[in-house]
Amino acid sequence: MESIQGQSFASPNGDGFWIDNKQKALNVSASDLERYTYCPLSWALAKEGATGKGEAIEKGKIKHAEIHQRVQKFKAKQIELKRALIIWSWWFTIILVFVSDAILFYLLDKETRSLESVSQYLTMLALTWLILAILAIYLPWRKYLEFGSNIDEYNEIKNFDETVIPFTFQPLGFLGGWGEGGRVEAGLLFGAMICMLHAIGLTWAENRSQAGFILAVLAMIWTLLASWQLQKALLADNELETAKLDAGIDDKMDVAYSDDEESAGLLKDDVTGLRGRPDQIVIVDGEFIPMEQKTGRVPDKPHKSHQMQLLAYLHLVETTTGRKPPYGVIKYGNENIHQIFWDEENYNLLMNMTKEIQRIMVEGGAKRNHERIGKCQNCSRRYACDSSLA
Ligand code: SF4
Repeated sequence: MESIQGQSFASPNGDGFWIDNKQKALNVSASDLERYTYCPLSWALAKEGATGKGEAIEKGKIKHAEIHQRVQKFKAKQIELKRALIIWSWWFTIILVFVSDAILFYLLDKETRSLESVSQYLTMLALTWLILAILAIYLPWRKYLEFGSNIDEYNEIKNFDETVIPFTFQPLGFLGGWGEGGRVEAGLLFGAMICMLHAIGLTWAENRSQAGFILAVLAMIWTLLASWQLQKALLADNELETAKLDAGIDDKMDVAYSDDEESAGLLKDDVTGLRGRPDQIVIVDGEFIPMEQKTGRVPDKPHKSHQMQLLAYLHLVETTTGRKPPYGVIKYGNENIHQIFWDEENYNLLMNMTKEIQRIMVEGGAKRNHERIGKCQNCSRRYACDSSLA
């Protein structure tokens, strides 16, 4: 087998990674590692354009798309539940406001003077909050203060595609300013509105006992509406549980990212040249854990090629987030789950294999690395291979 076209000018750097004449490490994808571990010839054939053929490949693609859809459905239900709970908590706050107003009106009915000064105080407060809200919307204050935004969170996972997992209220990396508002601005406007309504109510309600009664009735009506909203939240919670079971997601787990092959961001490490997109990155106990879903026959233990692919994702998650994942997961179906630990031995295995692939890219010489007929029988590139044992 000749060297892989276009890589003939690369040479190893001080760390042993092969770099081209622009000092860039040769790219090695997680799929390269999987194919090369299975059989270097299969990898070389893929590099030369021999696409994998066979029923298993087609079935695998369909199965992967289904898994992704189930994870997406879980995320959509999770967001639906969050929204329903946020809306319910706002509605519940309104009930509390109505009830406290009703009590206030009853108790302070005769204290006209003190009510007037409370009303003036509330008007001042409402105007102050309104001015602050307008300034907050029109000035990029988060940029100046580097405060109140989720910049760190954004930097930590900036290589993940945000469109895959949308955010409930304020997008990742939101900096506001020049006509944009987030949570702080919404809170200020909401507060200004409530203060102003109270001030108006205190000034214009002639019969405060009657106004208190009306507010109590309103609070009851609002309680009914809030119950309906709570019921929606409970239904969303039920649907979320079903979606969670469908997607095979554990109770202690959350999904940070799911690969749909089209929009998901590629994770990269320019030092080693490693590249890849894990099927999912889940959050377990605050750690980002890459997860690889495999379809087809379920083996007794994970294949070496699948393990090598996962090691690449572990390294990429570590370099992208700056946090070392303790392990990664390979799933064969929903039941067969294997943890692969991210330790020094596996790190060295990955680095050595990456350098070996880069060397073969330049020097050529990919050969069959096994004597197993079964491997060749299951090989999706057997049709293009002249060293097949089958
Ligand atoms: S048919 Fe066999 S030797 Fe050829 S690429 Fe596939 S596994 Fe390797």
